[in-house]
Amino acid sequence: MSIAANISAIKKEIGTSNVKLIAVSKTKPVESILEAYEAGHRLFGENMVQELVEKYEKLPKDIEWHLIGHLQTNKVKYIAPFINLIHSVDSLKLIQEINKQALKNNRIIDCLLQLEIADEETKFGMDMAEAIDFLRSNEFQELKNVRICGVMGIATLTDNPKMTEEEFYELKTFFNGIKDTFFRKDPAFKEVSMGMSGDYKLAIAKGSTLIRLGSTIFGGRQLKAK
Ligand SMILES: *Cc1c(COP(=O)(O)O)cnc(C)c1O
Repeated sequence: MSIAANISAIKKEIGTSNVKLIAVSKTKPVESILEAYEAGHRLFGENMVQELVEKYEKLPKDIEWHLIGHLQTNKVKYIAPFINLIHSVDSLKLIQEINKQALKNNRIIDCLLQLEIADEETKFGMDMAEAIDFLRSNEFQELKNVRICGVMGIATLTDNPKMTEEEFYELKTFFNGIKDTFFRKDPAFKEVSMGMSGDYKLAIAKGSTLIRLGSTIFGGRQLKAK
């Protein structure tokens, strides 16, 4: 199927629910993104800063760009002028830098806290106790140019759906808990970013609001030699 047909099939599946589709275009050429754009899609995700900036410069400016991959502090400045949502905030040091660059650009940058839900050492993210310390800290509360809009997690790569379900359930439950404790009066705190090509149906069933789909839309990716 074409990129446009894939997107329309997924949107049909999502139906009128509260779930937004992020087309993850990492490693894919701008032509593929334009194909999705011409089919009416505006929300794209990338995981590498340099690739994201190059694509941003070449593509129409009404695209909403999300950074879904790990972000190094020294690269925040490149995306601060235009990024719509950073999914991968995992330290105080990083969000302080995002705040600083947002201020320079006279913006408020929306962010998600990345939580470690997978049973794998390789995944980035805070554990739940760290996230709570982070939210309680004076250093965080002083920041005026960032806004936390929810949480993000990447489930373990497994063919055991029970395990995936439990990880999504855990993330959604944690979201509910910190919403009650820290964001009760904040309608912007509403996003649960979970679900990729292999597990997005489970993620939606467990309360995802942002699914991040790459291969289902654009086809498989080749691993880049580095
Ligand atoms: C690559 C990536 C995705 C999309 O993966 P697919 O399995 O191709 O859908 C989603 N989230 C993150 C964080 C990614 O790095």
